[in-house]
Amino acid sequence: MTNAPAPKPWINAIHAYVPGKASGADGRPLVKLSANENPLGTSAAALAARAAAQVPSLYPDPGSSDLREALGALHGIDPARIVLGTGSDELLNLAAQGYAGQGDEVLFSRFSFAVYDIAARRCGAVPIEAPDKDYGSDVDALLAAVTERTRVVFLANPNNPTGTYLPASEVARLHGGLPADVLFVLDQAYAEYLTPEQDDHGLELAAAHANVLVTRTFSKIYGLAGERIGWATGAPGLIDTLNRIRGPFNVTNSGQAMALAAVADQAFVTASREHNRAERARFAAAIEALGNHGLRAVPSEANFLLVLFEGALSAEAAYNGLAERGYIVRWLPNQGLGHALRITIGTAEQMDAIAAALREMAEAAR
Ligand code: PMP
Repeated sequence: MTNAPAPKPWINAIHAYVPGKASGADGRPLVKLSANENPLGTSAAALAARAAAQVPSLYPDPGSSDLREALGALHGIDPARIVLGTGSDELLNLAAQGYAGQGDEVLFSRFSFAVYDIAARRCGAVPIEAPDKDYGSDVDALLAAVTERTRVVFLANPNNPTGTYLPASEVARLHGGLPADVLFVLDQAYAEYLTPEQDDHGLELAAAHANVLVTRTFSKIYGLAGERIGWATGAPGLIDTLNRIRGPFNVTNSGQAMALAAVADQAFVTASREHNRAERARFAAAIEALGNHGLRAVPSEANFLLVLFEGALSAEAAYNGLAERGYIVRWLPNQGLGHALRITIGTAEQMDAIAAALREMAEAAR
């Protein structure tokens, strides 16, 4: 017996988040391509709005009313069906907490977003991982894993950390195969990277069904990761649950003001999407050209590529070699991806430098 408080046993199963380094051994700034942030930064209009935000001594609008109005107008959603969160992380956790508890099961795919596992454990539920298919989510495997204890199903589409994407028909098939009393959380953190031609099925699904919650974020294409703003939409009952259990002042004054300006600046969103598509294609081609060295990229619809290392150059060696050159990317050995690096799409110069470094290391490793 010690005299210190003992954490609950479920805590031991969780790995603490390991943040990327901000500077190298010699104090040189590192280029951070490990957290899927926007390499174009933040909309100038959003930066200008920060200065005009309400004084910090006053609490923010607890209902984020102007922001809900703006999001509703942009996406054709009744603002009453929208809730804001401290990042979409908060909303994912609240969704699990609101609908699953001790002994219940929370289901998601292998190689999906790490927060789902933690969200399940935090509310006492059992996390269940369905097998993947080629690093993507497998609808048949997910449906086969549903039991009478399943209360919440998480699906990230596009998926993180793999970038894979399920077409609308597959998402509908998954939703259609779930019992009506199971909450289906469709995490669309990367939805804005899809082309307008690709079906924006998630919001339609959330509008039409009582058991679908769609989550979105300002952290990725909107370039506001540091402000911590996410949102969710779904049936009034779902939104009411999240409103009851969320922090009352969960989005700051500056966050609300910046997000409002960012929503109004869709030109920045379009430019970010186009930059990402062009650079992602160029980087994917550079990886394909290293196929003879065992490098391979998983097809991605997000703002990053998962690169597999199946030859003489290991992912760990490549991670260390990139770090020595000043580039921090993501190596995920704790998620069964010790043979892969997740690399955020940065500027053209950054992607050229990373591709050249990978070529140099792969040739040397032969
Ligand atoms: N969902 C997915 C799939 C993500 O990749 C992320 C960010 N890594 C989030 C949700 C959470 O983002 P935020 O809390 O910044 O909104």
